[in-house]
Parts: sequence; C-alpha cells; structure tokens
Amino acid sequence: MNTTASLTDERTTQAVKLTIDGMEVEAGAGATVLEAARQAGIYIPTLCFDPDLKPYGACRLCVVEIEGMRGLPTSCTTPVTEGMVVHTETDAVMRSRRLTMELIMANHHGDCLTCNKNQNCELQQVARYLDIDQEHFDRLRKGTQVLPIDRSHPAFERDLNKCILCGRCVRACHEIAGVGAIGLAFRGYDARVATCGDKPILESICESCGECLAHCPTGALTPRNEKQATREVKTICPYCGVGCSLYLGLRGNEIVSVRGDHDSPVNHGGLCVKGRFGFDFVNHPERLTKPMIRNKERGKDIKVNGNFREIFREASWDEALELVASRLAKIKQKHGADSIGVLSSAKFTNEENYLVQKFARAVIGTNNVDHCARLCHASTVVGAIAAFGDGAMSNSISDFAKADLLFIIGSNTTDCHPIIGRVVRQGVKTGGTKLIVADPRRIELSEMADIHLTHRPGSDVALLNAMMNVIIDEGLHDARFVEERTEGFEELAETVSKYSPEMAEEITGVPRDDIVAAARLFAGADRAAILYGMGITQHTTGTDNVKSVANLLMLTGNMGREGTGFSPLRGQNNVQGACDMGALPNVYPGYQKVDNPDVKLKFEQA
Ligand code: SF4
Ligand code: SF4
Ligand code: SF4
Repeated sequence: MNTTASLTDERTTQAVKLTIDGMEVEAGAGATVLEAARQAGIYIPTLCFDPDLKPYGACRLCVVEIEGMRGLPTSCTTPVTEGMVVHTETDAVMRSRRLTMELIMANHHGDCLTCNKNQNCELQQVARYLDIDQEHFDRLRKGTQVLPIDRSHPAFERDLNKCILCGRCVRACHEIAGVGAIGLAFRGYDARVATCGDKPILESICESCGECLAHCPTGALTPRNEKQATREVKTICPYCGVGCSLYLGLRGNEIVSVRGDHDSPVNHGGLCVKGRFGFDFVNHPERLTKPMIRNKERGKDIKVNGNFREIFREASWDEALELVASRLAKIKQKHGADSIGVLSSAKFTNEENYLVQKFARAVIGTNNVDHCARLCHASTVVGAIAAFGDGAMSNSISDFAKADLLFIIGSNTTDCHPIIGRVVRQGVKTGGTKLIVADPRRIELSEMADIHLTHRPGSDVALLNAMMNVIIDEGLHDARFVEERTEGFEELAETVSKYSPEMAEEITGVPRDDIVAAARLFAGADRAAILYGMGITQHTTGTDNVKSVANLLMLTGNMGREGTGFSPLRGQNNVQGACDMGALPNVYPGYQKVDNPDVKLKFEQA
C-alpha cells in the first residue's frame, strides 16, 4: 500500500555522501535532498510535501541552493548525488521562500483563533519560521473573496477560504484512498479544490474515508466534532477484521479525535469511514451503561391497560449478577448443564474470550459455547484445518501488494474491508496486478477486474472445480509443488474431471469461455492469492467452498511464497482470537478437540 515506504526501504541499500549546510550527511541512493536533510535533523519548510504521498514540488517553499546547479531547485523532488553540496538558508533561498509564503497567505483567511487547526497548523509553523508578519502580506491581498463553506457532509467541513492549494487532499484521495472524488479546478483567483461539477462533497463519489482531512496542513478540511484532546491512547479499530491501528484522542473519558497509526504495518496511518468517524456511539447519551432487568410477573411482561409498562428497569451490578447466577444455578439443577448455552463475541479481547469459554466449561459444565464464527468463518476453520492443518490466513495484507494476480470470491472487499480494498484497487490501478472477481453481483472491484465471473449463488464449488479441471487438463498446474508438498492429487483430479467447463456453465450460469479464461489467467500468474469472505462461507457448502479455494491454491503452487496465499477476510476485529481461545463448542483453546479423551483429561486436571 505504501509505495513510498517500500521505495525508501530499497533506497537505503546504497549510501550516498553529500554536504548540507556544511554538515556531512549520508543518505540512501534515490533519496531526495529533503529526505536527506530531515534525516540529518535539518529543517526545510514545506507545505505540499507529505511523506505518504508522491513528491509534488508545487508550493516551492522547500527550495535550496545546490552548488553547480542553476536556480533554486525544490528539495522534495531533487534526488541526492554523491558529493552534492547543498545550502538551505542562503539569502536568495530565504527571499524566495518569504515571497512564496506571502503570496500563499494573502489568499488565506486568517481567523486563526477560531480555527480548529490553531496551534496545530503547518501554515502557522512555516509562517513563524519565515518570520512573516501581517504587514508583509497585507499589501498583496486582492480583496478577499468569501467562498461558501461546504457543510453537506455529516462528519467533516470544507472551508476553502482556508485552502492554500497545496494539493495534498487531492493526492491523498487519488493515491491513498484510490477514489478521485476531488481535483484542482478553475484558474487564477478562482482556482480551488472541487468535486466533479463543483457539487457539495456529499453529492460526489466521496467515500467519506477522511484521508483528505488527515493530510490537509491547514484548517480547510476539518472533522465536525473534533476537539483538542488532552491525551491519546493507542488501540485497534473495533469494526472489521482488517485490524487497523489508531490513536483515540481523549478528554477525560470522552473520545474527541481519531488518527490512524502510521507505524501500523496493516494500515500505515490510513483509516476508512468507520474507523475514522464511527466512534460517537461510545459517548452517546442513549448508550446503556447500567444493567437492566426485565420487569416480569410470573414469567410474563407486565401490562397496564393493555400496554407494556416499563419493560426494563435499571439495576445495580450486584443485583443483576446475583439474579443471573441464581437463575443459571436453578436451570442447571433442573435441566442439566447442557441446557445452557453461552455466546461469546468476536469483538471481545482474547482474554475475555478465554474467560467466557472457561466460564461455560469449568463453571457451568458445558461445551455449549460459541460466537459469530459459527455463521461467518467456522467453515474456514474446518476447511483450512483439513487442508493445511491451520485455521488462519496463510499470508499477510502486505502480500496482496506483491501478488501478480488476486482472485476475489464472495467478498465485496472495498465495502467490507476497505483498507484491504484500497490495496487491491491500488495494485490493479498502478501496480499492474491482474484481478479476477467471482461474485453474482456487480461490485466496485468487478468494474476494474480483468474477468468478472457472475456465478449463481451457491455454485462456487462447481466454478472452482471447473477451473481446476481446465488447469489439470491443460497441464497448467504446478506439478513439482503438488508432488513435493501435497497429497491426494489423484483423488482431486478424478473429482474435478467431472466438472467440464460446459457442465459448470449449466450449474453456474458463467459462460464456459470465461471459466477457461479465468483458469488460464490464474494458473499463468507467478504469484497469486485468493481473497474470500462471507459470500462463500455462509452456505451449507461453506466448508467445501473453503476446501476448493485451498485446492486451487495448492494445485497451482500458490502457497508459502511472498505474494501468494490463502486469505479468508474475517468479519469482526477479533474473530481469529475468539476461535484461537476456544470460544467454540468442539475445541478447547488452541483447537484442542473436546472429543479427544487425553485432551479432556488434561483440561480436567488443570
Ligand atoms: S473523504 Fe476520502 S474519498 Fe472523500 S474526498 Fe476525502 S479522501 Fe476522497
Ligand atoms: S484543502 Fe487542504 S489539503 Fe486540500 S489543497 Fe487546500 S490546503 Fe491543501
Ligand atoms: S478497514 Fe476495518 S479495521 Fe480498518 S478502519 Fe475500516 S473498519 Fe476499521
């Protein structure tokens, strides 16, 4: 996802020596002068530069003098060379920067005290460094036009009067979010950031991810409800299984801001709409914070004049726990431990899941404990353990950017796992990654896919078996991998031989030529990964679907190498942990089977 980061990693392999302001500096070959200076602790002002984005060289504040080079080159776009001599604060450099800054500020509305970027604004920081004062740029003001503030979006505001046209929001929307909802439009004094047709942002194709806000150096783009935090805590987004890392800004116990964690290998600082703006429920006045006990008389809800009276009443924790414990004890005594079932949650931590399963087993005395993996990815656990001996994803999110081909089946990735969706989108748009999408619906990724297989719901096994049939029939499988690393090839070949593309066309509704083309494309990739979601697991044949995915990967040798692998996209943020901790009826923690007498004895003794 983060091409800049990977470029920097590659660059650092070779060192280049240069001199900046008389200091000997070493930088990786291919680094820019700006990067070399920053690494050496030398400040060069910038406004359009952003380490997450490609160098742009538009604001011209980072100009420097380089001996032997004409003019004042922008340090953010000039690569270092051996023996280069750079001066960052000559008279000519500072004169140029001041003039540039005055022109920028002359077009900026300076109501700093009420701006919610105040004290945290890069424009202020550069102005302070350049010693700009009011008098300098007042003479450049051409009467200030006032643009209407775009308040169409429920989560953020666009006040283009504070925009300095650095283009960071536009580039973030294109390069990071991969959406392209905004661009630089019009000319001269009218130049501004606009949506297609200059409509309010809510009427555009904006996906509300907030990347533009996160990269804006001024108060032009700001979250609506953000307040200055007094402290930050690092945590994981509570929504999907991508597991983005983020910082919550707090005031007392109230969440007042959110920012992505740049050091996270998962999201590299990026967030989607849910992770960035979806925290208002925490402090919502209607959120239940105390136990509620149902008012009942002789087991029935109480009615007054035919209407339900207050169905619930608030209770203390002691009263509620006492009631629950005594009722559970009574039910257990009357109907036995197995009459009770306990539901855990894939949104719990590992520790909580461990406790829930232990409560069910050691306190209640039943294996009736489960959580939402029953519906979403229990089939993955069973299918993957049968295929690989392990119930988890075999690769990491960074592998998707290294794959030559991604095959997505049963997953609307850009909607359900947006940060992974971005990696896919960027790979296809700029990295040359081939994409096969198998989905009965037209989803966003199917629009950019090389092949979209619109198979009938429930016909996944037939589709995948027919692809394997073609691959084996045409000798496109990885015979060496199959021979050295797998077993049961003959049985698989016999099974899939029954699934000719013609027969699969009848079952799936996908034209046979498309099945053949998809099989050839998949088998022809050097590094391919299959991403799948609940679109194939939440079926009565979910386990078979998962096994077919595993078979296709093993048949083509796409396991155990960078850029390849088996990628079940989990729904909740800790569904893997809930399974690992044994919040499942058939296994103790660590997938130790409950019907194995030795395992059972071990747990009983412990
Ligand atoms: S919120 Fe996201 S999609 Fe919308 S304009 Fe900003 S970067 Fe683009
Ligand atoms: S809105 Fe912000 S990020 Fe976008 S061009 Fe203006 S100042 Fe730069
Ligand atoms: S992709 Fe998932 S984990 Fe990341 S911010 Fe969005 S909802 Fe949260």
